[in-house]
Amino acid sequence: MKRLFAFVSIAGAALGLLSCATGPSKEQALVSRAVTAVGGAQALADIRTITFKGTSKYWEPEQSEVPDGEMRFASEAKWEGVIDAQARASRTDWVRNFAYPAPRTFTYSEIVTPDAGYVIGIDTNSRNAESLKSNPPAHSMSGLRLATAHREARRNGVSALLLAMLFNPEQVQPAADIAFEGRSYPAVSYQGFIVAFDPQNGLPVLVRTLDYDNVWGDVNYDTLYSDWQSVGNVKIAMGRKAQLNGRVITEARFSEIKLNQPVDGKRLQIPPDVRAAAAKPATGYVPYQWVIRRQFIGLYLDSENVSYDTRAASPGLRLQELAPGVAQVLGGSHNSLIVEMSDFLVVFDAPVSDAQSQWTMKAAKEKFGGKPVRWVVLTHHHMDHIGGVRAMLADGGTLVVGAPAREHYLKVLAAPTSRNPDLSPRSYAAVQIMEVTASNVITDSRGRQVMMYVMDNPHAKGMMMGWVPDAKLGWITDLWSPGTPLPPKPNAALLSVVNTVKRAGLQPERFAGGHGSSAPYAQLTQLVGQ
Ligand SMILES: [Zn+2]
Repeated sequence: MKRLFAFVSIAGAALGLLSCATGPSKEQALVSRAVTAVGGAQALADIRTITFKGTSKYWEPEQSEVPDGEMRFASEAKWEGVIDAQARASRTDWVRNFAYPAPRTFTYSEIVTPDAGYVIGIDTNSRNAESLKSNPPAHSMSGLRLATAHREARRNGVSALLLAMLFNPEQVQPAADIAFEGRSYPAVSYQGFIVAFDPQNGLPVLVRTLDYDNVWGDVNYDTLYSDWQSVGNVKIAMGRKAQLNGRVITEARFSEIKLNQPVDGKRLQIPPDVRAAAAKPATGYVPYQWVIRRQFIGLYLDSENVSYDTRAASPGLRLQELAPGVAQVLGGSHNSLIVEMSDFLVVFDAPVSDAQSQWTMKAAKEKFGGKPVRWVVLTHHHMDHIGGVRAMLADGGTLVVGAPAREHYLKVLAAPTSRNPDLSPRSYAAVQIMEVTASNVITDSRGRQVMMYVMDNPHAKGMMMGWVPDAKLGWITDLWSPGTPLPPKPNAALLSVVNTVKRAGLQPERFAGGHGSSAPYAQLTQLVGQ
């Protein structure tokens, strides 16, 4: 049946080519040559199952220690799995060792089917309500994650993508040549993918998507294929690299691939009750870069909203008043602090996305009489705490960052943002950037002060602590998450908070944080033994 279907389709594709009076287009010729180079349409159509094993390594450019500095090594993984081509289902069993933000290992499995995805085990520190409720731990994938898994499966199964292009010639469109590593490659566009070909041997060399990144705006996300080897009657690229704007952020290698091995269908099944309640693949905007790269560091919150768990008991962001004229954004994975001044607002951190910042701006204005955000203070440059910086600057605020970060933010704000799902593109050239080298104070006409101190710390160069003197309230991100359990012994991150407080001569009553909520400062001093 399958074979017959494939023959009919191939015949149809061939007829399509023949019926064109001027012969195949340049694009169709590239696709056709590539299909032949990887083994031919019939050999590809004969693949029913693929079993595979391999390893991969991941780096995250926007969790670097120094702004714009060397990428942080995030994790490495061993995996093995199976793809059932006919059912369009796959299972991957992972052992993933994370180096950042803390060493740990997650062992889990992912099952991906056309209309649902399932994670067995724990794959993140940011577990959602469904995972926490499940015993043993498991959860259905969000529609965002499922759509991302589908897209990346098509990119990884590049031969099947080529076959689909052969069968749908009317959807294969011209694309500009792609230049990399000093050479130029002819390319075509198909259903959101740009596929470039090696002019020598006809093989695909790269598949690109045009993604949006909350820090770098419009970005190219590429997979490069290398080390093509014969497996049965087809050729498969055993080496893969993923690049973000030309920087390698993933290196993967298949150690073993077998075709048409028998597959235990039960291993690809999602329990019926889970399947019934699972999300369908998202059809609107998918924040692919967020979904992919938060998994690099094992902190992805699998949810339909990147800011908060949509399956939580009371999902959504909210404002929590901590002191007169001081409010914390809570309810999500990442928080901000808003301080009301005589005729403007100061905001600490612009986490996750412009959509979250838009929520924060709106809530702050409702609470504080429509005052504009004049100062946007970023504790540090990591992607998850600055992804909403553009929307937070909507009132023409000044950006306040710890040195050395000015050059980094000049580049970030100059990046093209035509694909931003939340904001129309605009110029940020007029944004003032204040770089703090030791400390800084913002004062209003009534004498209220907000301060910030650059910290000696193990997390990020130029990291700042915030301080609201009249509320005796500190603001800290990533080094301590107030309101969450403290470790049994103080670590370098917690000590850096205590040391900064001492050095600045502050007497805090409480700290609020970019994660967690707020807590008495005494919890920290007791732990440290002071
Ligand atoms: Zn950080």
